[in-house]
Amino acid sequence: MKDCIFCNIVAGEIPAEKVYENDTVLAFLSIGPINPGHTLVIPKAHSHSALAMQQEDFALLMKHVHTIACAVRDATEADGVNLTFNCDAAAGQEVFHTHAHIIPRHEDDGRVHWPAGEYDAPRSHTIAEKMRAQLRQ
Ligand code: 5GP
Ligand code: ZN
Repeated sequence: MKDCIFCNIVAGEIPAEKVYENDTVLAFLSIGPINPGHTLVIPKAHSHSALAMQQEDFALLMKHVHTIACAVRDATEADGVNLTFNCDAAAGQEVFHTHAHIIPRHEDDGRVHWPAGEYDAPRSHTIAEKMRAQLRQ
């Protein structure tokens, strides 16, 4: 896709620090790392976000994310790793070409831990019931 930064990286038109590439996926370092070694794994074929992908394509992407995440963890000597997909702007997505974030984490690195909210009991039941209904369809 012409105006997509990540498609341009796939095409070699924008440089990136690539760490893995095959026919379908590309992994490279984020230009704005949360910690050193923060890696993005993308399908080479353009899609807007993870939830827009075909399940089979997503499953293949995740297989590679697993392999690459283990390598990122070991290479950075991380104590833990965040694996995330930001899907759509409300979830923080800024580049609208599907990408998995692999973020190496270290004890007391001062980076974000999501603050826990809380439910009142009826609301948790209501939202769970809506989800169960969706999944029964
Ligand atoms: P998002 O907020 O869309 O989930 O994450 C976008 C990611 O892409 C961020 O980690 C950001 O630093 C990274 N990024 C944005 N533009 C570029 C770029 O031109 N090159 C590289 N290597 N990473 C980029
Ligand atoms: Zn793209």
